Amino acid sequence: MNRNPFLNTRLFCPGPTPVPLSTAIAAVDASVYHRSEDFYKILTSCRQMLAPFFGTKHLPLILTSSGTGAMEAAVANLIQPGDSVLVLVGGKFGARWGSIAERYQAVAQRYHFNWGESPSLNELSSLLKQKPKAVFLQANETSTGVAYPVAAIADVIRKASPDTLMIVDGVSSLVAHEMRMDEWGIDVVLSGSQKGFGVPAGLSFIALSERAWKQVKPRSYYFDLVKERDNQNKDGTAYTPAIGLVLALHQALQLLQDFGPARCAQHHETLARACRKAVQAMNLSLFPRDHFSNALTAVEVPSAVMQRGLMKILKNQFKMIFAGGQDDLKGKIIRISHLGLMDPFDLAAGLSGLEIALQMCGHSFKMGAGMTAYLEEISQNYQFPRL
Ligand SMILES: *Cc1c(COP(=O)(O)O)cnc(C)c1O
Repeated sequence: MNRNPFLNTRLFCPGPTPVPLSTAIAAVDASVYHRSEDFYKILTSCRQMLAPFFGTKHLPLILTSSGTGAMEAAVANLIQPGDSVLVLVGGKFGARWGSIAERYQAVAQRYHFNWGESPSLNELSSLLKQKPKAVFLQANETSTGVAYPVAAIADVIRKASPDTLMIVDGVSSLVAHEMRMDEWGIDVVLSGSQKGFGVPAGLSFIALSERAWKQVKPRSYYFDLVKERDNQNKDGTAYTPAIGLVLALHQALQLLQDFGPARCAQHHETLARACRKAVQAMNLSLFPRDHFSNALTAVEVPSAVMQRGLMKILKNQFKMIFAGGQDDLKGKIIRISHLGLMDPFDLAAGLSGLEIALQMCGHSFKMGAGMTAYLEEISQNYQFPRL
């Protein structure tokens, strides 16, 4: 047990992400009644502040669940038994869409492509000839660190099968990437509190287009989006929400809204680019070849280095929580998250820990090379405020 009082626990995993103190403090107020005018104002203000991060004029609903709950809500409200759906599977979260759809008796066709790649638009276009009821995909496939080209995919769907609903899991994408739901013609976008928004886990958000709302037929009691919408538009949530988390979300969104979606995305883009340069200078390879996510960086690590306990050193000696690979990628990659309320200096701490741990595991590189590349990129391209 590491009881060194000077070591802070640091999160570099893609959820939960670091939570600012002001947000964490807001969550502990247990004196708020959810059937009150005060709470209703806070809830509505949260929905209004969330909307720009979705790129929609339709106010997102706030649900009490993790991100997967919002995924299930999308399926349970839009898919009827026997509906044919197309699922883009380039990683673990794509696979989850397939399982949820089948649990709700959809006939799911899976378009599998290599983990670490993004879908071929030509292939997608030809699969759409079957005119599925809906296409399910991720904006960021968090298991591989790939950001799919959502706008281009929307374009292909609109051209090849205009009536198909496009349903996007933006759990790890929102705030790190701009989302323009209305402009791109996306029908459903959903996200969660513990990723880009820097709020503890337990809330999810979902926005539907007008077209999608017309097709809603709720098949879940708890995730009845019609009931939820009618309540949230009138005087509160259908059931008792995670009140403290809504208060925390309100605090977090005030920080984010001042900065705005474009600058938030730019912040994450710069951190991501600096992180990629750093790990390459550490003589490691990036796992995806292109379409890099702004939210996290997936890195191939030689198996000898992994076997010497890289992740254990980071976690048990440095108290730094990085994510490993999942399923087939277990023991082959590490995932470095720069999502949530993380600044360039926070990420520098993680990368310095990674360098020392790599050195301890006998990885061949020049210690300090990663930090140098990182600091060069940040000092040249990070937009620090001018005083
Ligand atoms: C984290 C994540 C989810 C949701 O996971 P929960 O553990 O249910 O919050 C869904 N999709 C993606 C792409 C994610 O990164």
